[in-house]
Amino acid sequence: MRKTVFVLYLFLLPLTATFAQKKRGGGFNIFSIQQDLDLGKQVSAEIENNPKQYPLLAETGRNGKNEQAYAYLRGVVDRILNSGKVTYRKEFPWRVKIIHNDTTLNAFCVPGGYIYVYTGLIKYLDTEDQLAGVLGHEIAHADKRHSTRQMTTQYGQKLVLDVVLGRNQGALTQIAQGLLGLRYSRSHENEADQYSVEYLCGTPYRSDGAAGFFQKMLSNKQGGGAPEFLSTHPNPQNRVQQITNKAKADGCNLNNYAAARYDYFKSLMP
Ligand SMILES: [Zn+2]
Repeated sequence: MRKTVFVLYLFLLPLTATFAQKKRGGGFNIFSIQQDLDLGKQVSAEIENNPKQYPLLAETGRNGKNEQAYAYLRGVVDRILNSGKVTYRKEFPWRVKIIHNDTTLNAFCVPGGYIYVYTGLIKYLDTEDQLAGVLGHEIAHADKRHSTRQMTTQYGQKLVLDVVLGRNQGALTQIAQGLLGLRYSRSHENEADQYSVEYLCGTPYRSDGAAGFFQKMLSNKQGGGAPEFLSTHPNPQNRVQQITNKAKADGCNLNNYAAARYDYFKSLMP
């Protein structure tokens, strides 16, 4: 699926690739903001067209329960987006969808701000603050443009540019195949954790919400199946400590926000 998307995408790239976007996104990225948007749009379209792998919860239905669930989830996302800390708040569409799959404890965000949360994760968490922490982390991956930055470093600017300009078609296959196994680097994971705190610090949420989530996962590891989020986000255990340290150093809120409300959200899940 991803291969098709990426091949298509490369053909649609304009011939004038943008260089040196160190300013807002942070880190070198050969891709333009518009290309992040285009890539995200295509990947999200592929997801919508693949209900077998991604059974999306409809935005309406079940006597209004779906509407209420989405209203609640958008409320959480909007509080983060309105923290004043999200760089591409206006440029990216920031859509959020629920994937109806109770066995997957995960969430992800594709370039351009298309966020996906599994019902498995929603049901697993205990508080809205933990959910906000995870969403902040995922929003940071898109806002800091980690996917396209990763592609730029992984393959090198020259190779990517050669492919973009059609000078090296063999490399196209190489990159497309590599994209299937694309993982964020440890530094990108740490950056997403740090920005999760930074974003939440500008909201009513407990700023170390993401740490609460990781703590729960680490303590449950022995008891049941290994949480999927940890396998897609390989990291040392000091991650929790780093999140808490930043929250304390920045003097951010460390109290739960509207804790009781989260049960209501869970009750809306199919
Ligand atoms: Zn991550």
